Amino acid sequence: MGYAIAEAAIDAGHEVVLISGPVNLRTPENARVVSINTSDEMYEAVRDAVRDCDALVMCAAVADYKPAKYSAQKLKKNATALSLDLLPTRDILASIGKEEHSFLLVGFAAETENIAANAQKKLREKNCDIIVANDVSTNEYGMESAENEVTIFFRTGETKKISRAPKKNIAHELVKIISNTHEKSLTKKT
Ligand code: C5P
Repeated sequence: MGYAIAEAAIDAGHEVVLISGPVNLRTPENARVVSINTSDEMYEAVRDAVRDCDALVMCAAVADYKPAKYSAQKLKKNATALSLDLLPTRDILASIGKEEHSFLLVGFAAETENIAANAQKKLREKNCDIIVANDVSTNEYGMESAENEVTIFFRTGETKKISRAPKKNIAHELVKIISNTHEKSLTKKT
């Protein structure tokens, strides 16, 4: 979805910084791509990119936990059980939402149940302007699929559904919505 949004934003004439973990997707032409491997690297790259942007769209499925210890060498197996200690990762979107910022903050919510309630909770807790929610309880669309269906929750309380469609179409629709919301927020400030 992130790659489709980057393509759609470029098509609409926007300057795009695409911060991406390892994926097997064609890099959109004309995007500045920042490749990262860990949630900590994504945190740093996002912080750096938002110093000069109009909108941050966080659609990465960032890992919630990371290993407490990292081994540069292959771990040898033995006959006993192995437990991994995991530490929570930093929430990039929430950390930015807590600070004063002048750009639009767009988050994603992948949910399997109570989609509206969970998405609206995230909108408030992460202090976003928009949350794009998708139902990942089905494998007919969403992750690992060329299609998606989303419901958009706005800070104003409005909602908008985009019915099942190719991710490319959904991305174009989302970019229009993000641009319009950004324009409205500028009009309000002036
Ligand atoms: O809490 P949850 O992972 O469902 O929230 C989803 C939103 O938060 C997405 O926009 C995702 O990119 C962002 N997120 C983040 N940092 C994390 C986990 C999620 O920015 N460590």
